Amino acid sequence: MATKKPFVKIQCQECKRVNYFTHKSKKMAEEKLGLNKFCKWCRRHTLHKEGKK
Ligand SMILES: [Zn+2]
Repeated sequence: MATKKPFVKIQCQECKRVNYFTHKSKKMAEEKLGLNKFCKWCRRHTLHKEGKK
């Protein structure tokens, strides 16, 4: 279905909160491995990973 865009949640691995949403793309495939992003809940940079559906 072309109308259904897959998007993924980017989840903080410290507090398990979802901080970011991103559309899934081939360019972002490497993000599955983990990202250092700022978590507003932890108030620091933490490891973020793609959340499961
Ligand atoms: Zn966090």
